[in-house]
Amino acid sequence: MTEDLTGKRALVTGAASGIGAATARWLAAHGVTALVLVDLDGPGLAALDMPCEVLPFPGDVTDEALWDRIEAEAGPLDYAVINAGIAGGAPIATMTLDEWRATLSVNLDGAFLALRCATRLVRDHGAMVLTASVSGLKAEPGTAAYGASKAGLMQLGRVAAKELAPRGVRVNCIAPGGVDTPIWDQTPFFQEMIAQAGGDRAAAMAALSGAATPLARFATADQIAAQIGFLLSDAAGTITGTSLVSDGGYLL
Ligand code: NAD
Repeated sequence: MTEDLTGKRALVTGAASGIGAATARWLAAHGVTALVLVDLDGPGLAALDMPCEVLPFPGDVTDEALWDRIEAEAGPLDYAVINAGIAGGAPIATMTLDEWRATLSVNLDGAFLALRCATRLVRDHGAMVLTASVSGLKAEPGTAAYGASKAGLMQLGRVAAKELAPRGVRVNCIAPGGVDTPIWDQTPFFQEMIAQAGGDRAAAMAALSGAATPLARFATADQIAAQIGFLLSDAAGTITGTSLVSDGGYLL
């Protein structure tokens, strides 16, 4: 894609790792002038080497005071990529209320706070992408909290799209299937697969992606970043309130 984002300013949450870091790199490679980057992992944010101005905000997306500070200090935005998330993989019967709340808190409360801030900072005709998941569209055991959070996120995105349409601001979700990032290591069942593969994470990931998708492969973080870039770009100028499924055919 030849999109030129020179002069644009973008917010990315969950920017220190995986899809968020790849999206920050994609935006920088396409010319954004400034990146407002948010992540719990302060050293991870500091280690990113971006060829543009970076305003790092180390902190927890569920912390309302962090968003007050970002609103006061970040300046105007053209794009927001609301992406920070955690997995959580307990079955309903054994899930504690704290586990349920932890996942909902980061994936939904954190996204709401980011979205509310972004609606105030994003200029007219800007665009936003929320990172949802196919887990919000399909039931799998052990995904109750994560799936509920991502289904909620997709509805949050649709409502935001309708509220912001009068300003020409577009809001979409990306709904990846599997992407090989560190988030998988948080799930008990992937830890079990690694143990079954004799501690070989790459072999466990190959087995998982091969079994889970008709295309027999997960996306790379760079591929999801480019798809987020498309949703932000003028090429997607009539697309709002939708979820782009990128799952190697998992939902078929
Ligand atoms: P990742 O673990 O590599 O990156 C997530 C980032 O979010 C990390 O840098 C982490 O520090 C940050 N983060 C987590 N909680 C935070 C908090 N409370 N405050 C601030 N930052 C926080 O994982 P990823 O795969 O890149 O995940 C990005 C998004 O993609 C998540 O919303 C995830 O649910 C979604 N997703 C991932 C996959 C996949 O297979 N990897 C599939 C579908 C959707």
